[in-house]
Amino acid sequence: MKIIIQKFGGTSLATQELREKVAAIVKKSKEEGLAPVVVVSAIGRNEDPYATDTLLNMIKKTNTNPSLRETDMLLACGELISGVLLVNQLLAMDVKAHYMSGQQAGIVTDGQYGAAHILYVDVKNLISLLENNITPVVAGFQGVSENNEITTLGRGGSDITASALGAALQADIVDIFTDVEGVMTADPRIVKNARLLDAVTYNEICQLAREGAKVVHPRAIEIAMQGNIPLRVRSTTQLDSAGTLVTNSLRSAYGAAPMIRDRLITGVTYASHIVQVKIGNDTLENEVADIQLKVFQALAKQDISVDFINVQPNMLVFTVPEDLAEVTVKILNDIDIFPHLEFNCAKIAVVGAAMTGVPGIMAKILEALRDHNIPLLQSGDSYTNIWCLVAGKHMEEALAALHDKFALGKNSDG
Ligand code: ADP
Ligand code: MG
Repeated sequence: MKIIIQKFGGTSLATQELREKVAAIVKKSKEEGLAPVVVVSAIGRNEDPYATDTLLNMIKKTNTNPSLRETDMLLACGELISGVLLVNQLLAMDVKAHYMSGQQAGIVTDGQYGAAHILYVDVKNLISLLENNITPVVAGFQGVSENNEITTLGRGGSDITASALGAALQADIVDIFTDVEGVMTADPRIVKNARLLDAVTYNEICQLAREGAKVVHPRAIEIAMQGNIPLRVRSTTQLDSAGTLVTNSLRSAYGAAPMIRDRLITGVTYASHIVQVKIGNDTLENEVADIQLKVFQALAKQDISVDFINVQPNMLVFTVPEDLAEVTVKILNDIDIFPHLEFNCAKIAVVGAAMTGVPGIMAKILEALRDHNIPLLQSGDSYTNIWCLVAGKHMEEALAALHDKFALGKNSDG
């Protein structure tokens, strides 16, 4: 039995017409002799009826701080709706199919509501359906804890479900169908000449995903990598495109086994709605180290996760997501620290798994930003990324400028 996982995101299931397309893809793979296991997300996005955000807003109208257990039960309904619709679409097209909740599919997680981790997958129900030529349509993003409580895996969690099933069933491939052609050098909604990456390593795509390219969940890539299952990101509607193959060698694509190399620069990503917090000279004049320690201890105690930290002898800078700015200020004020805040910043990352030790990359970044008169508020680097903090109003221009500078676009030979 050649098992393949076919995961369809929320926008791919949003209309009757799209669900017919999705069902046709599943039907065709069955006709080709494959045994597909389908994973679905909740229908639509943001404010669409039944989308995850819609359900969340609904409960938040009743209680701004809703109970975690019941929130997960509510959120798990989104995938039930899309799954049941897709099963019936398949049945209408003479494809035998069966809806499975995360629990019915054997996805067992820890008990952390809203951000549960998959512990293992008990595949016996799935296997018995497949042996009877019935296609399982599995609810993504959810599982069940060992105490029999419904849990969800966090945003983008359906990708994780797909990879976990791929690894547990030793599938030939995990296909992530979405609303773009594949993994591109930048978000194609923002950078118009973004180019499709036809083959990338797990490492490269993991770096992109961690830095905000939400096209695949980074944990889904880690699971596929550990299970040594190739993963492909492709479009639900542009079926003539092969999309992006994610693997460490090209064997599954071409029959030969050359290694794919990490390239110098893979792409650029962004994260917006970030607030920069600066604690400057005056505050830190005395007992600098003590104050630095106090700041981070106070924030850690309240579970505030800070990013982009620069500690200098008389200056302390870091960033927090916008929705944590108010509570961060309160925590700091309580220990008599009065920071300066820079609202509405964006963090851009130039990502390249092979950039380590290559000189001149920072110089190129600075050139690109200067040519566009975009002030750099803060920068940082690791061996696979260089991060730039800019004002939110400059985000799109900065992304495009860096994308061009590294010749990543369609009409360049990068
Ligand atoms: P789905 O509902 O299918 O899971 P997502 O919205 O989670 O879809 O992911 C697809 C979106 O990811 C695209 O619509 C695109 O705007 C965005 N995206 C961000 N960065 C990239 C990138 N580098 N390549 C492709 N898409 C990207
Ligand atoms: Mg997604």
